[in-house]
Amino acid sequence: MECIFCKIANKEIGSDIVYEDELFVAFKDIKPVAPTHVLIIPKRHIEGVQALKEEDESLVGKMILKAKDIANKLNLKEGYRLVFNVGEHGGQTIFHIHLHIIGGRPMMWPPG
Ligand code: AMP
Ligand code: ZN
Repeated sequence: MECIFCKIANKEIGSDIVYEDELFVAFKDIKPVAPTHVLIIPKRHIEGVQALKEEDESLVGKMILKAKDIANKLNLKEGYRLVFNVGEHGGQTIFHIHLHIIGGRPMMWPPG
């Protein structure tokens, strides 16, 4: 299996896991852009938002609710940003869907 995030989900490579259940793993981003930077991924390989199908509706819904729970657990009381980078222009570099949870400082808008 080539996908690095599948390998993280399968514990074939190490990561700093902050949450795990039967559907998702959340781990610290290796190159954090803010004091808190966590990625939440489904254990099942999906390339990205563009590859989502109708039947993934409840999975992505749960993913966002889980991101909220993790943000609360990480004490991001002042707020945070949830980001799906989609495709090349969206800045996606790893083609296993992931939701960034970024916080611990004020975010800029518009993003670069
Ligand atoms: P994206 O640019 O949206 O595809 O985000 C991919 C993210 O994965 C980047 O923020 C990387 O820093 C992060 N990343 C890449 N490899 C690893 C790894 N082995 N462990 C944790 N985060 C990683
Ligand atoms: Zn994968």
